[in-house]
Formats: sequence, structure tokens, C-alpha cells
Amino acid sequence: MITSTERIRANAWGRYYVTGECNACGVCAACAPDNIAPSWDGTYYAVACQPASDREEWELRDAMAACPLHCIHDDGDL
Ligand code: SF4
Repeated sequence: MITSTERIRANAWGRYYVTGECNACGVCAACAPDNIAPSWDGTYYAVACQPASDREEWELRDAMAACPLHCIHDDGDL
């Protein structure tokens, strides 16, 4: 199990990312289904693609707010 506070390597390159603290609860994917997806083995979630519209940006922001472990981040780089 990954427990690091580092960015998971499976995240799509870009400003939004999930860290290794993720417990795979799936709340984020319910908020942002077009941008966040589970790993192949279901042990963590990651940003599968960066937002490409205002709607996807809002959904990712909702996912950040809803994550119980606060392990979805935005580094501000575009
Ligand atoms: S809401 Fe947070 S802890 Fe739950 S799967 Fe998403 S990133 Fe992981």
C-alpha cells in the first residue's frame, strides 16, 4: 500500500494530482468521473486526465473538497 504524501506516478501530467495517502474510497470519482479513475488494482485513485472544460474544473474542485483525506492537490502549474 502506498502511504506517501508524494504525487502518485499514475496521475496525468498537470496541475491536479492525487498523493499516495489515497485510501481508494472513490468519493472523488463520483464528483469528477471524467477526470479521476481507480488504479488497475483498485488500491488508489489518480487524476486520469486534467480538466479540459470549466465543468471538469468545477468537478475536480468538488472532488478536492470532498476527499476525506485531503489528498487531491493543485500545484497551480498549467
Ligand atoms: S476521495 Fe481522496 S481518498 Fe478517496 S479515492 Fe479519492 S483521492 Fe483517494
